[in-house]
Amino acid sequence: MSTRTLKIGVLNGDDIGHEIVPASVRIAKAAARAAGQPIDWVDLPIGRTALDTHGSTMPSGTLETLSQLDGWILGPIGHRDYPNVPEAINPHPILRKHFDLFANVRPTRSYQGIGCIYDDIDLVIVRENNEGFQPDRNVFMGSGEFRPNPDLSISVRVISREGSQKVVRAALELARARSKRLTLVHKNTVFKLGCGMFVEAAYQVAAEYPDVTVDEVIVDTMAMRLVRDPQSFDVIVTTNMFGDILTDEAAGLVGGLGMAPGLCIGRGSVAMAQATHGSAPDIAGKGIANPYAMIESTRMLFDWLGRQRNAPEAVDMAQRMRNATDHALGNAATRTPDIRGHATQDGMVQSILEALE
Ligand code: ATP
Ligand code: MG
Repeated sequence: MSTRTLKIGVLNGDDIGHEIVPASVRIAKAAARAAGQPIDWVDLPIGRTALDTHGSTMPSGTLETLSQLDGWILGPIGHRDYPNVPEAINPHPILRKHFDLFANVRPTRSYQGIGCIYDDIDLVIVRENNEGFQPDRNVFMGSGEFRPNPDLSISVRVISREGSQKVVRAALELARARSKRLTLVHKNTVFKLGCGMFVEAAYQVAAEYPDVTVDEVIVDTMAMRLVRDPQSFDVIVTTNMFGDILTDEAAGLVGGLGMAPGLCIGRGSVAMAQATHGSAPDIAGKGIANPYAMIESTRMLFDWLGRQRNAPEAVDMAQRMRNATDHALGNAATRTPDIRGHATQDGMVQSILEALE
């Protein structure tokens, strides 16, 4: 049986995205060659360059093409710096909602010598991606925020039973593949209806996973415990905003935002590789941005596609990417300055490519 070709989109995003996305693609190409996984790469416009070339930060042609792909790599988008015109919309919510990418899987892993606060962290936070304080704009008018008078603002937080069940199921599947432990993070002591529904929905789904041990931690306690005993956790699942904050905290434990990868997944096997960090305009063009988070997000995409579609070549490709990246991270001469190294981004990428040969 011949190996099926994967169709993968490449969307650079803004600022350092133009550096770290092409770097990730070079590494993925080398790994794919070594593993015998054929890939069709499709470059697509998004963000500031798309505004110049296609008149919109989120061109409709990009969305149409994405729907024919197996997955894609999305660089960071600096939407806060966009001009205040209707054509300059933030592509993130459109992508997540259009493709129903409801779970954002964000791993945190220690590496020796790079400035991790502990050497033995290995956990995954699964962040709900489409509800909470950033609800679906089609259902809840506008941004979910209202200012009924100049001195009062109201933010709506949406939690649905179905949305909660979907993200918890994704986390349970992940926990089943790891050490079979899942921690629900919420604050149902105060948000009795919203967080209350999240917890109720979680236990409804968890009943189908008797092999996974489920416990709960209140979000403020979790913020403290991530610092004190992050080793106690394996898979954590939480609502959108809590997950946003806790994943940055977790990144801080293991060397910062350059070490924080992510994969957005949904119901089908389509997935979007997206690092946790932003477009870092302060270091763009200096050749020092850490490419790890983007490379690892890309690796997660191929591992995911390989497992979902029973494609051993893609899983092998992902394993090769991990080994090569571990190799570069292991030496100060081949890692970037933010993680106690003295290589440029190119130097780190070259080292990973050499390890793949
Ligand atoms: P966003 O609103 O998009 O999340 P942000 O304000 O959180 O953006 P980032 O762009 O994530 O900001 O950057 C925050 C800080 O982390 C910046 O000082 C940036 O230089 C640093 N940083 C982010 N990503 C990387 C990276 N890959 N390598 C090195 N430093 C990074
Ligand atoms: Mg941020």
